Amino acid sequence: MYSIGIDAGSVATKGVIFDGEKIEHVIIPTGWSPKTASEEVLKQLLVKSNIKKEDVERIIGTGYGRISMPFVDKAITEITCHAKGAHYLNKKVRTILDIGGQDSKVINIDENGNITDFLMNDKCAAGTGRFLQVMANVLGKDVSELDDLTNNARPEAITSMCTVFAESEVISLLAKGIPKENIASGIMHSIASRGVSLLERINILDDVAFTGGVARSDVIGRIINDKISKTIYKPPNSQIVGALGAAVIGYRELL
Ligand code: ADP
Repeated sequence: MYSIGIDAGSVATKGVIFDGEKIEHVIIPTGWSPKTASEEVLKQLLVKSNIKKEDVERIIGTGYGRISMPFVDKAITEITCHAKGAHYLNKKVRTILDIGGQDSKVINIDENGNITDFLMNDKCAAGTGRFLQVMANVLGKDVSELDDLTNNARPEAITSMCTVFAESEVISLLAKGIPKENIASGIMHSIASRGVSLLERINILDDVAFTGGVARSDVIGRIINDKISKTIYKPPNSQIVGALGAAVIGYRELL
């Protein structure tokens, strides 16, 4: 029995195929069309797991592009899917901090993975993956290279509250000869601080799961860990938690 979850996000489209135990996943850029990206994810998932589409009994869509997937049985919000995904991976999780491409959210869940509270920041790119992408670009790096670049360097404070101004600030810092590693460290601290500020607006409960594409950064995870006195759980594939939650919900509907 197979279920698929597809999370079409603003930056990346993620897919998970789930048989009640094993998980296969695919991550590709969303590009201009969430519909095309989700179709491609579905195709790649079936090839990767060597399963025919007829053998998949449930497909659940989530993410901002969930309304653009004609082939899904159901569309569910990413808040619910993140909650179920994080709870499936770690039953001790009670608070989730998810930092994606263009929004960040905090969710509180109970022992069954049901949502008890949530807050979302989707008004401002600062503190999101987009901010990290813009800053990495100014430094001539890919987001995946920032952890290595940072290398425990002292953070150079980034004071601008807005992505556009922060980009100018980083360009000025580079022009002044501030080493890239200090700037990268400052950028990581800035994202982590915004994540913590969002967390502090709800009741932070142990354990705290850190999910979303930005949680792929160990450095940002460590800074958040230092700032809050809670146990941080970082899933091995933090970016696919929403897609996993969708697949788990679909699978449970089949039981
Ligand atoms: P969305 O669902 O909005 O598409 P995701 O949760 O997929 O967002 O996250 C996408 C973001 O993840 C990108 O904007 C990028 O900045 C960030 N990201 C991807 N890989 C890494 C990495 N290795 N380190 C830090 N951030 C990363």
